[in-house]
Amino acid sequence: MDKVYDTIIIGGGPAGYTAALYSARAGYDTLVAEKLSSGGQMALTGIIDNYPGFEEGVDGFTLGMKMQQSAERFGARTKYTEILSADLTASPKRLVTTDGELYAKNVIIAAGAYPRNLGLEGESDYIGRGIHYCAHCDGRFYKDKEVAVIGGGNSAVTDALYLSRLAKKVYLVHRRNELRAEKIYSDALLKADNVEFLWNSEAESFDTNEQGRISSLRIKDTKGETLRDITLDGIFISIGRKPATDFLRDSGIALDKHGYIIAGEDTRTNIRGVFAVGDIRTKRLRQVVTAVADGAAAVHEIGEEL
Ligand code: NAP
Repeated sequence: MDKVYDTIIIGGGPAGYTAALYSARAGYDTLVAEKLSSGGQMALTGIIDNYPGFEEGVDGFTLGMKMQQSAERFGARTKYTEILSADLTASPKRLVTTDGELYAKNVIIAAGAYPRNLGLEGESDYIGRGIHYCAHCDGRFYKDKEVAVIGGGNSAVTDALYLSRLAKKVYLVHRRNELRAEKIYSDALLKADNVEFLWNSEAESFDTNEQGRISSLRIKDTKGETLRDITLDGIFISIGRKPATDFLRDSGIALDKHGYIIAGEDTRTNIRGVFAVGDIRTKRLRQVVTAVADGAAAVHEIGEEL
């Protein structure tokens, strides 16, 4: 058998690299297994100004790099590889990767969650230039502008509410004729006087201007017939998120009905020595500050075990 790490952390976002910092600093032999590059979803965010310590805000990519460097300063290492499956009840725990197997006494799962794409043509090319997935992150760029929010659940409605306080006008585009969101949020949104509801409607395509930004959205009805073009500045897609738990099928780890790993503030899962941190675990507020708190909590729990 290859080397057995004290701690392997799956995912190099803010939760993962905070866990790595605490783990390496506590003297544990620590490895971060990251699929792509540090920062996770945070790295896709332009300016983050709700993470304390940066009076001018900080771009997500830079913050991700800084978090990686902080952990590596204490000896944590990063291996760029994808975890394909995990045997978490074995001793030591075994991770099957695209580059062979890894073994650890403790596994901290920090693989995150991803916003669902709508699948519009060119959608991924305009992320950050009019296409957004997080109103609380990017809404402030749309002060006194016109935006659309796609979706009808709690995320879409709370995003639309937030944007209605900043933007001049908000279109809520929903494929049903009623909201799925909880009444407390729906009632507040229905009362907002700068929100127009487009029921039984879906986004069909968007157009862009000479600056390479979104300029309009074409709306179709649910039977596919084009209804109208809306002139606007931004589109917020809020149709749910997907936790990155595919590699955990057959691992025995307990997930909730949305696919998030069931874990409380102590980040302990149903399997001893396995912890879930950041956006991948069941929690109410998914932010960088709550993710980094989880990373610290997980390593504290590992210390308690020892
Ligand atoms: P959600 O509840 O699954 O709602 C997704 C919404 O997007 C639904 O209205 C759905 O339409 C629509 N949708 C899905 N795919 C679509 C597509 N391809 N095209 C157009 N519309 C599409 O997701 P969520 O709102 O992100 O919420 C996820 C979880 O987080 C929920 O449990 C929610 O309660 C929770 N949450 C809580 C709060 C809070 O309490 N403050 C805030 C945000 C989220 P249909 O209705 O037709 O299916």
